Amino acid sequence: MSVAALDTHPVPACVRTARESFSAVPTSAWDGLETGEVRRLIGELGRLESQVAAHKMAAARVLEKARKAANAGDGPRPGTGTSTGATISFDFGGDRGSADALVNTAQRIEEQTTLIENALAAGVITTKQADLISRALAKLPDDVTAEQRERCEETLLKDAQKLTLKDLRRRAARITETYRKTTDEVDADEDEILRRREEEARKKTSFSMWDNNDGTVTGRFTLPEAQGAMLKTALDALAAPHQKVGTVNAATGEMDEVGFGQSYPQRLGHAFATLVEHLPADSLPSNGGVSAVVTVNLDLDTLMGGIKAAGLSDGTRISAGEARRLACSAQIVPMVLNGKPLPLDLGSANRYFNRSSRRAMEKRDGGCTTPGCDRDARWTEAHHLNPYAISKTTDIRDGALLCPFHHHRAHEQGWIGRINHDGHVEWKLPGSDTWQRNTRWRP
Ligand SMILES: [Zn+2]
Ligand SMILES: [Zn+2]
Repeated sequence: MSVAALDTHPVPACVRTARESFSAVPTSAWDGLETGEVRRLIGELGRLESQVAAHKMAAARVLEKARKAANAGDGPRPGTGTSTGATISFDFGGDRGSADALVNTAQRIEEQTTLIENALAAGVITTKQADLISRALAKLPDDVTAEQRERCEETLLKDAQKLTLKDLRRRAARITETYRKTTDEVDADEDEILRRREEEARKKTSFSMWDNNDGTVTGRFTLPEAQGAMLKTALDALAAPHQKVGTVNAATGEMDEVGFGQSYPQRLGHAFATLVEHLPADSLPSNGGVSAVVTVNLDLDTLMGGIKAAGLSDGTRISAGEARRLACSAQIVPMVLNGKPLPLDLGSANRYFNRSSRRAMEKRDGGCTTPGCDRDARWTEAHHLNPYAISKTTDIRDGALLCPFHHHRAHEQGWIGRINHDGHVEWKLPGSDTWQRNTRWRP
């Protein structure tokens, strides 16, 4: 193999010139440009990135071939990494994962495609689009001809110009329609692609969480796309930004700001906590005879408003206010200990407001009963106005709907509530001597 002299070979000259051009311009120079021009130039920089990526892939392939040749001969030479990705990341950046991905994509593009490399080198598509299209082409049915494959590639390159990455992936799953005769065949091809993807997704599915030892846990999960969409939809509904959550300050008459101004991830986090509390724990399978239901162990005194902390059945310690709120919600079974080792009340199912009393409360209250709160009835919790009624009655004259945020507040601050003479829930909020109600409009 002959190697061109360095001063005449085009690659070193090109790379040197590009590096010099960028080094000559400080990043502060962007400040003097008008926004229209900045937008155009950002697009141009994106194309430049694609062009650079195409060259990096070509370079990675040269290294990979040299490494294979060396391994086939007298074994790996000293100074070379265990893989081409390792070598590249050792030279710059130290990011082994990205370097390995670069080598893989470079090889897939060379083996599966004919036009992508040129499109990338011309700055027409991004590396993510190139990766997605080459993956789609690799998944074409075995009976595809070279000509059909190229037609698929052409179509996807064209579609990449107008579709988002997500839509391009959906489009790619039905790309065989460029050569299949019937829709049934395309449906079958798409189904096969999806079936394989779901199988891979199930293998990758995992969940882990760990204790931060500061009263929080942090977790990480990988879910199949469909279950991810279900989770996202549920959390978005619970975290709906138009749902204002706050309390009218009795002294000033203004909404207090707690609950406002939360970031989207914070709202999703609270939504997730609400979702967990609403799990149908009592209908989940038991774990070797151990119930999936967490119980809260508290003294009668705590239930009635005392300040003695309580515990969950797994040993987690919680404040008295939180224990009362959890005991109030249908998903946690309170075990009132009353200072003795045996539970006074095992929280029989009929202590909860049943479906019809819950419906009646939804009709009566229309949503959270806190003055000024606009949360609708779907995700409210049934609060017991008389704490002792938690273990005794399911009469709706003892109940009031509260959103999770205000349910926390009610137990934390010991709100006093009652049903007034015309049958509506009224609250005496902390710092106020007057009874107030949520003047929600009712049809
Ligand atoms: Zn409650
Ligand atoms: Zn509320």
